[in-house]
Amino acid sequence: MEADQRFEPGALHARSAELEHASAQEILAYALETYAPRIAISTAFGVEGCALVHMAVQIDPGVRVYTVDTGYLFPETQALAQRLVDKYGVHVETFHPALTVAEQDERHGPDLYARDSDACCAMRKIEPTQRALTGLDAWIAGLRRDQGGATRAQIQILERYDHDDGAPLIKVHPLANWTRSDTWRYVLQNEVPYNPLLDQGYKSIGCWPCTKPVDAEADERAGRWGGRKAECGIHTFLPRRDG
Ligand code: SF4
Repeated sequence: MEADQRFEPGALHARSAELEHASAQEILAYALETYAPRIAISTAFGVEGCALVHMAVQIDPGVRVYTVDTGYLFPETQALAQRLVDKYGVHVETFHPALTVAEQDERHGPDLYARDSDACCAMRKIEPTQRALTGLDAWIAGLRRDQGGATRAQIQILERYDHDDGAPLIKVHPLANWTRSDTWRYVLQNEVPYNPLLDQGYKSIGCWPCTKPVDAEADERAGRWGGRKAECGIHTFLPRRDG
């Protein structure tokens, strides 16, 4: 039987190279058409995710969007999610960790994020992400190469991963070639809602215990985890099959 070219690593590699010359909108449209209906956008409502949601609803108003509510989101992030829903009519599916923050505190002690952020991220981000990805053929994320760090600098536009059962999962990065300036230009020109904390010294926003404002010159993700780590693990936990 002939391999499905949408998932075959060699074909994907070639297609990804072709898409290096495409716009973010063209990449998004290609992905939504190729992998529908088993495709979704993940967002934590960073400025890239907001841009992607805006772009995607122009292509498919019924696009699937999911987020993980760790229980530690800033109120400003929760309000932003509602603003996007209200403005674009997009349906955002929210996944929660198995334990509430109170249950986690009881079972693992208070403030686990300060003692073992990897364990906290595994329970509050990675496990819900695994559930969100179940049944999907493709997953769209707003990573950019110029966000720095080895993980992001080397992303491809299309990447092949495997679910635990061996089924393929394609990760799509429509903004791989965008800079921080490109993102802000898009959001401001299109009047896309964004997190007001980004006007208050924050450059990247996640859970409130692990996110701090940074100097204007600091790296984009320097305010996350006090510089102790650069990624929570949701973009690195799956085995890559084409790398
Ligand atoms: Fe826990 Fe911090 Fe990870 Fe959020 S970012 S899941 S609070 S360690």
